[in-house]
Amino acid sequence: MAKQAASGGVLSGTPAALRGKLAKLGITRDADLLTHLPLRYLDETRLTPIAELEDGMLAVAEGEVTLCQLQFKPRKMLLVELKDDSGSLQLRFFHVFAGQQAALAVGTKIRVSGEVRKGFFGAEMIHPKYRKAREGMPLPDHLTPIYPTTAGLAQNSLSKLIHQALDSLPLDDTLPAALLGKLKLQPFDSSLRTLHHPPPGAPLKQLAERSHPAWQRLKFDELLAQQLSLKRAHIRRRAHAAPSLSGTGRLLAAFRAALPFSLTGAQERVVSEISRDLTQSHPMQRLLQGDVGSGKTIVAAFAALQAIESGYQAVIMAPTEILAEQHYLKLSAWLEPLGIKVAWLAASVKSKARAAALETLKDGSCQLAVGTHALFQQPVEFARLGLAVVDEQHRFGVAQRLALRDKGNGLVPHQLMMSATPIPRTLSMSYFADLDVSIIDELPPGRSPIATKVVGSSRRDEVIDRLHEACRNGTQAYWVCPIIGESDNEQSEVTAQANMSRANVKRSGRSQKLELQAALSTHEELTERMSDLKIGLVHGRMKAEEKAAVMNAFKAGELHLLVATTVIEVGVDVPNASLMIIEHAERMGLSQLHQLRGRVGRGSKQSSCLLLYQAPLGDIARQRLKAIQESQDGFEIARFDLELRGPGEFLGARQSGQPMLRFADIEHDQKLLQQASQTADWLLQHDEQAVEAHLQRWLGSKADFATV
Ligand code: ADP
Ligand code: MG
Repeated sequence: MAKQAASGGVLSGTPAALRGKLAKLGITRDADLLTHLPLRYLDETRLTPIAELEDGMLAVAEGEVTLCQLQFKPRKMLLVELKDDSGSLQLRFFHVFAGQQAALAVGTKIRVSGEVRKGFFGAEMIHPKYRKAREGMPLPDHLTPIYPTTAGLAQNSLSKLIHQALDSLPLDDTLPAALLGKLKLQPFDSSLRTLHHPPPGAPLKQLAERSHPAWQRLKFDELLAQQLSLKRAHIRRRAHAAPSLSGTGRLLAAFRAALPFSLTGAQERVVSEISRDLTQSHPMQRLLQGDVGSGKTIVAAFAALQAIESGYQAVIMAPTEILAEQHYLKLSAWLEPLGIKVAWLAASVKSKARAAALETLKDGSCQLAVGTHALFQQPVEFARLGLAVVDEQHRFGVAQRLALRDKGNGLVPHQLMMSATPIPRTLSMSYFADLDVSIIDELPPGRSPIATKVVGSSRRDEVIDRLHEACRNGTQAYWVCPIIGESDNEQSEVTAQANMSRANVKRSGRSQKLELQAALSTHEELTERMSDLKIGLVHGRMKAEEKAAVMNAFKAGELHLLVATTVIEVGVDVPNASLMIIEHAERMGLSQLHQLRGRVGRGSKQSSCLLLYQAPLGDIARQRLKAIQESQDGFEIARFDLELRGPGEFLGARQSGQPMLRFADIEHDQKLLQQASQTADWLLQHDEQAVEAHLQRWLGSKADFATV
């Protein structure tokens, strides 16, 4: 620290405009400069004879200018030819500035560096760096780092600041030497210097692939910072007091006795994991994962019953009204016979009814509240809230989860997060390290596999005929209309509404309108072509009551076919529906397709799913459709999805408050992740000073990795 104080700081001496640009790169403190690591390197330590230049090479060459000519066709450019003893190289400059022709006049000796391309006229470089060559001009003695940068911030300026930071900041190790020895990790300072200044002859390939020991150390440090921050948040939340919900067994026994089926082994296991957490006097922080249809709702019901038995209230929140209502209907059907009062809180509930419901929660006469998350952002008071269940947790923002936590009147309620999208193990180990995880890895018995077929849209007529035939024979089916615009990730209406940036909302508004039009015209078309069938329509712009009415009619078997936008993606449960047709499946993301398809195959009937696509298929879309056709295992699909999209997109906008890992790759660096996780546990118990130092270096004042 003394060193830094003496130098007066690196950033504090720079103009505000420059600091603004650095902030865009996440550099707000001097220490951030240290961990701004190169993307790649340029080997300028030796000259390459022109004849040895190869396509794609980053190289330095030297020679004499033999041609310097301004051309105007096909576009304006300065064409320069450079010769050495071995051959000739073409240089092309599209932005020509005053004095450049003079500097590159025929006969001048210059040194150039840049990327080589093999063009029509042999080796060439576009916009290389160049300078006048002098006799005996030295070459740099280390590889030149290329840093990630932003518009208006030159490599040189960035590089200079980073080197100042390297020279002036303390680079002490944050980790005890014994630990490094045990983990076979290199010291921090030499690793950092190697990455910023690789010596000549350093293994470029290992550096580029980030497998070099110096990279291993920095990746480990980054993963460790994430683990420490999340696990510390977990420990801190644990320090709060929660009501101990030990239950009496009375309601739970009655509920079990009334159930028409018995729980699967996996459900039993997670029910007891949750039950044990609820008896503790610190808040549960558990993530329940299970594939589509694995039966998470009933697990939530067991948890709620334990809270209610113990004299407390429970709340269950879902991101959409359609899903929240399904939960409400199901839970009230299950629990009201046991004498439990269930309140329904949704935007569509009229103010008078809502006020009455709120009153019953406040005076404690109602034990369970079910509703959409939006409602819990408004003032809702509970007499004795003991448990909050959040379905589809990944769609909730941090603020919403925090708001819930504050509703327990001094005591922090237990929290159960449920995730409909299975999360690959590596991802939950890293980004969800602040939660305990329960996994339902078994489907209820009697589910038959869903026969999935990928069909070109040229066969749409044939598909409609088949659908018509099936519905006449008593099949209930979904027809899912295409999503429009946007990219291929999460694009359900929920996400669109929740997106924070203005631009996103606008774009989504427009695509929602187009989606609505598509749904309306598809409904019209199908009704015309199959006039003997009863065909319903459900979309996001309908009022909640209208939606519920259509869904209920479909559930009651009064409709053969339900034309729908992706509003049915989450949680809709109509066990008798056994056929699904998805139009423009090539536009949808993997987890979305898996969720949609999960709406069928819920009863004992043999189910099918037809994925219609519009040719030609892009490469990624083809891989997605192939994956969904070949697998029905949500965890396997999620792993593949993570591979295709990377963690940032996989986690989606909801997780955007969390800094992403910059260097480590959770799939390829699994071993490091494992080590970082164990090391974090050990440090949090034994070395508070190292924890502080490490978090200070890596996170400083930045947002925590923790989300809740
Ligand atoms: P998800 O995990 O996707 O939320 P749900 O909770 O909606 O799944 O359950 C899917 C369906 O399976 C529901 O109709 C539910 O009643 C039924 N179900 C849940 N558990 C079992 C079980 N153990 N045996 C038979 N059916 C079950
Ligand atoms: Mg569900």
